[in-house]
Amino acid sequence: MGGLGPEYRGPIRSNVDSIVDFEFWWIDRIIGVGSTFTSFPGGIEMKRDDPHSYIDFEQRKISHIDFHLTPNFSEHTLHVTATYTLDSPASGSIFLDTRNLTLHRIHSEGEILTWELDEQDDILGRRLHIKDLNQVSVFSIELTTSPNASALQWLAPQQTAGGVHPFLYSQCFALHARSLFPCQDTPSVRFTYDACIEVHQALRAVMAAAAKGVEQQDGKSLFRFHMPQPIPSYLFAFAVGNILFKDMSDRCGIYAEPEMLEAAVWEFEENEKRLKQIEALFGPYIWERYDVLVMPPSFPYGAMENPRLTFFSPVYVVGDRSGTWVVTHEMAHAWTGNLVTNATWEDFWLNEGWTTYAENRSTEMLEGKDYSQLLAILGRNAMLKEMDRLGKDSEKTALKFSQRGVDPDAVVTSIPYEKGSAFLGELERAVGREDFDGFIQKYISGYAFQSLTTEGFVGFLQEHLPKALEMVDVENWLYQPGFPDCVHPLDSELYDEVEVFIAAYEKGEMPTKEQVSDWIFHQVFLFIQMLPEKISVEDCREFESLFGFKGSPRYAFLYDFYSLCIRSGYRDVMPDVEHFLATIGVSSRIVKVYRALAETDWSKTQARALFERFQGRYHSIARDNIDRALVEAGV
Ligand SMILES: [Zn+2]
Repeated sequence: MGGLGPEYRGPIRSNVDSIVDFEFWWIDRIIGVGSTFTSFPGGIEMKRDDPHSYIDFEQRKISHIDFHLTPNFSEHTLHVTATYTLDSPASGSIFLDTRNLTLHRIHSEGEILTWELDEQDDILGRRLHIKDLNQVSVFSIELTTSPNASALQWLAPQQTAGGVHPFLYSQCFALHARSLFPCQDTPSVRFTYDACIEVHQALRAVMAAAAKGVEQQDGKSLFRFHMPQPIPSYLFAFAVGNILFKDMSDRCGIYAEPEMLEAAVWEFEENEKRLKQIEALFGPYIWERYDVLVMPPSFPYGAMENPRLTFFSPVYVVGDRSGTWVVTHEMAHAWTGNLVTNATWEDFWLNEGWTTYAENRSTEMLEGKDYSQLLAILGRNAMLKEMDRLGKDSEKTALKFSQRGVDPDAVVTSIPYEKGSAFLGELERAVGREDFDGFIQKYISGYAFQSLTTEGFVGFLQEHLPKALEMVDVENWLYQPGFPDCVHPLDSELYDEVEVFIAAYEKGEMPTKEQVSDWIFHQVFLFIQMLPEKISVEDCREFESLFGFKGSPRYAFLYDFYSLCIRSGYRDVMPDVEHFLATIGVSSRIVKVYRALAETDWSKTQARALFERFQGRYHSIARDNIDRALVEAGV
């Protein structure tokens, strides 16, 4: 939907009129994807489009897939047989997204189907055109993935915690499912699935689906799964490795390598309690289980909200539960993102802004307002720095902007998270919490198992919370770059305490050990974030000692400190920086440090050399992001 601008308002969905109040009717009823057409005021009807998919919304949709997956660890390929069921019989053509797949055979009821692959596009991959269908409801595709499939990372035993067995995992967000199997790779289409993963019997397969048991066959284990709730393709996820499981409550458990399991169980012990808190805000958790898989260090995100089974980076297993607030974010995705989904990646703020808002609200319920606002300030400060880097007038700082010809992985920033959450906070403030909570529940129940656009959201707002539209400049928040000045400030005493010491530092006074001894880690983190871009080498050394950063188990969170030291010319920090770059895989964190290296004169030449040295252990998403940052900095 290129050129979409603030002049557009609507659409207003018609089938939500019947929802009188919050009811859980949708739990028993799984609804299909919403209308193909988006209507705009003035009676103009525009065809729904997704700039990141070859889908033709007028064609039949995939409603179910049966998978048989056989990983080949020596060749780094996955053999896939996928049998597709369509929502109704198709005649003519069907277009599917693919990337780097070797297709062997496409057939239906014993008949070979004709197909062709179009030209390769760098972002979209290749369109698979299955032709001349005649009332076809079910068809199968046999294929092999490429060793470079962007959705898969194959880890050698030495890249795992145990060091004995290999590990394989998938990561389909945003456009990577198409490198595993042909699909309508848009968040607007949902399907259920069954899967069988065939692996060596020393290994275990896990999936973001219900486990249906395992059979042994000729030295192989066949793990079976069923996904009863329809999901968009980006939430398809599995992993294979030496993985153990421990139950923590009736619906929460942990999967991890044996070496990590005990520590992870302790770290995530409060998951059931957190889940109950979020249910109080959003309504019942409908995915049955909430399990966590602790990933190998190369996982490129802090966490990924794969339904039933969140994938977590091991950076959150630090032995003090200081990072487990992130769990509230991933859990909230079970409602905002996984249940109510953005229609395209241009509407990404609907997934992440809502989830960040929910994360703040549940942190407030669990840990108090002061702490939740402190976290919100940290997030907002980081976003404002990111806006400065991009330029306040850059369209990338708007909540919605055209991404035609843009790889969504390349424009993931904290802006949809933090600006989106701030926008929702303003809506709440305008109408009061009670009314806004009523609106939230209508929104979740009204759009359960559906996808919607930003304009669809505005239409829903217009219908159910018109007062908010009168009081908040929605058009400015959604479509204009920068961060609106009229936002209400966040308020936290924990923050105020840090601010006093920043003001004193600017006058030349260093805090003492006694003064900061009772600070929580996030205050320390905020203090570092609020320091000037560059300080003296002596001060870097002093802060390193004051906060005990050298050898700290929390080194995965010290990317702002390392960046500050690099910019300030504190070269003694380099062994720690190298250790960080060699062990952490979370893309957003390592990119910050590489960027600081590349943008600073004395370290410029080291940036690419270090990247060359460590890139073999990074995920391709992280590799691409680092490379882009280095090129931007001219190295
Ligand atoms: Zn998120």
